[in-house]
Amino acid sequence: MVAGAEGGLRVEPAKAPPVTVFFSFESAVSGQTLQHLRGELDRLFAPVPLNFDWLRLEEAPEAGVVGEAVVVRFRGNCSVTSLPPMPDERGPFASASVTDGVVQPFAEVNCDRVRAAVHYGLWGTERNQLARHLGIALGRVVAHEVYHMYFRTKAHGTAGVTRHALSPQDLVGEKAELHPEDRAGKAGGK
Ligand SMILES: [Zn+2]
Repeated sequence: MVAGAEGGLRVEPAKAPPVTVFFSFESAVSGQTLQHLRGELDRLFAPVPLNFDWLRLEEAPEAGVVGEAVVVRFRGNCSVTSLPPMPDERGPFASASVTDGVVQPFAEVNCDRVRAAVHYGLWGTERNQLARHLGIALGRVVAHEVYHMYFRTKAHGTAGVTRHALSPQDLVGEKAELHPEDRAGKAGGK
């Protein structure tokens, strides 16, 4: 781990500044869910390496931010206190905007579909940890979109969270990773 040394220092070429994630939620979201969402995104991108600053969209500074920024809007109900959505809720968990064939840094996450998948993927007592599982699941879905947006690619990986379609099991399973090939992107090296 390397401590951040931003301040007024001149840029060290070795390390990219954090990617700023401007986010907004249409519904209430628990602090626990948010904490696990961020933790899972950090964990998945740690090998790239890439880290993230989260800022509420309405608090976006007019002067902009240093480095890359993406916008993630969470639509629908991201709260764990409400009843599970209909199990036949189908369609993508999230998508990033594409204009003239180019991926734009704007993504939307469908909380109702992610929530339905989490309910479907979990058994019995694990449902006690719904806020945690929902956070991790959202983190994986966001990681998929950040991969598209940060690397400006519409391509998909052959394994891990950058696969074309994620299953409920992918969202609640013990372990998820960025596929090793997908890390190559901007990191260079082998
Ligand atoms: Zn995709």
